[in-house]
Amino acid sequence: MDQIEELKQKTDIVELISSFMPLKKAGRNFKGLCPFHSEKTPSFMVSPQLQIFKCFGCDAAGDAIEFLRKYERMDFWEAAEFLANRAGVKLKKTLSAGPDELLRKKLYDLHRQAGDFYHFLLVRHSQGKTALAYLNNRGIKSKAITAFKIGFSSLDPLATAKFLLKKKFTKEEIITSGLGLPSSYQPGELFDRFRGRLVFPLHDHRGNPIAFSGRLIPGLLKNEEKLGKYINSPETPVYHKSRNLFGLWLTKENIKKKNQALVVEGELDLISPWQAGVKNVVALKGTAFTQDQVRLIKRFSDQLILALDEDAAGDRAALRSFQLAQGEGLEVRALDLRGKFKDPDEAVQKNLEFFKKALKKTLPVWDYVIKTMIKKHQTGKKKLSIEAKKKILKESLVFLTQIENEVEKDYYLRKLARLLKVSQLAVLQEAQKLSSKQAPFLAESGPPDLAKEPISLRREITEGYLLGLIFAFSSPAKYLNKKTNSLFKTWRYQRLFNQARSFAKKGKFLPGKFLASLDPELKNPFVEIFIKVQDQGSEEKEISCTVKVLEGLSLKEELEKLSSELALAEKQGLENKVRKLEKKFTALAKNLSCS
Ligand code: ZN
Repeated sequence: MDQIEELKQKTDIVELISSFMPLKKAGRNFKGLCPFHSEKTPSFMVSPQLQIFKCFGCDAAGDAIEFLRKYERMDFWEAAEFLANRAGVKLKKTLSAGPDELLRKKLYDLHRQAGDFYHFLLVRHSQGKTALAYLNNRGIKSKAITAFKIGFSSLDPLATAKFLLKKKFTKEEIITSGLGLPSSYQPGELFDRFRGRLVFPLHDHRGNPIAFSGRLIPGLLKNEEKLGKYINSPETPVYHKSRNLFGLWLTKENIKKKNQALVVEGELDLISPWQAGVKNVVALKGTAFTQDQVRLIKRFSDQLILALDEDAAGDRAALRSFQLAQGEGLEVRALDLRGKFKDPDEAVQKNLEFFKKALKKTLPVWDYVIKTMIKKHQTGKKKLSIEAKKKILKESLVFLTQIENEVEKDYYLRKLARLLKVSQLAVLQEAQKLSSKQAPFLAESGPPDLAKEPISLRREITEGYLLGLIFAFSSPAKYLNKKTNSLFKTWRYQRLFNQARSFAKKGKFLPGKFLASLDPELKNPFVEIFIKVQDQGSEEKEISCTVKVLEGLSLKEELEKLSSELALAEKQGLENKVRKLEKKFTALAKNLSCS
């Protein structure tokens, strides 16, 4: 494990995370919008001292390796390898991968080799002639065929498995990849799932080949009307449909450069614009986004242009997509082909100029929604009936009430009223009925605001804050003494304090090393109180203020205890005791008014 430690030491977590997402300096820490949950106010903190990240919104936390695991979905060994490459360290053989990692690597390799085999059949072998002619017919040029590694799967259903077995993959691996299906006619043989189809390899955004998508070639297979136009690899240890986007590995740099992603539905809708020079494009392989996909795009771009089927734009799945994308803070616009072409592929092939103009004149997604709804319910060129207006209103409001910015929402509600020729008041009232109320999450940071909390909670929060200040101070040892110890009454803070005291006796107090030395159940409380202290340089002043607050709290607790004792003594008629307690009470209360 030493090498893992070495890797962590050679990695600056702030630098690492900054290479994936923007971070801003905030006192001693860095902060940014959490990539693991939706938020508008940053609660994702990175501590250079502890070399960890911690989100106060969703509790995601960990070191550099954990970040890569969560953010890049690498497994432990992939992450270690990534850090090693970055730091220029060569990982020793003894750090060989675990069984999951071995399987994953095997499956990448299998997909790569199968993809090469398919590609060879398409471009070099006589078997691929029909498929190649079909592609040429569709306007797909050889440059795109090479870049996307498009292939053809032989009509001989056993060919691919035979090839892979020769390449030393096992039957089990071929089945696990989803590529081979055990044959029921020829026991022991493996059929190719994609037999006789055009094959598009799917890659994760890092470029690992993880799955295939097979498209029918008209006229090639028997009973083709009974077969799906597209079939895809099933979910496997390396392929999760909801997490990947077709083409992103090739187009992400262009998307980043333009800060804009054109999102289309299928493979050919992507390849056509791509070869026509519109390279900031990805394909959903469907009509609706998942949250994972939105977050994946968000890493590369702030603006989405959706090029979805007009029919799809009005349905619930699309609404969910818009909401997801807007919820993640993306600007969402829609490509409007004005009913002239059915999809981007057709538009590019038939009228590239029109397509490029449409790309420059995209509509804000809410305008597009209203437009589509009206078109959907309008019959002919007739005026809208009352029934149609009600439907349009109802269906549009489902979308429009989700707009977060109030000014923007108001604008669209009024626009809708104008277009439907109904009163604005009526629209606003209908909208109000639908509006949901959700309070946004606010990040916690800085000194706690305690006035409203009960004493016990106030004590706990104040103790945590004080302890955090002490740990953040340049020489905590100054405060790690008996006197300060007596201030802590919360069990976990007492334990933290005591462990810190014995740790400080061994040498200089380094927060990162201290964290590593802690009992596992104390690590999280430590990180929490440490990261919450943001300002640098004013710890001593803050410490003495906070000590006073804690002393005040102790006093109040004491007074509360005394007054109940006093009440009891009075009830029991113990005059002597009453007098004694009263004296004590007055003396204590005097202290309180001074502090
Ligand atoms: Zn979070």
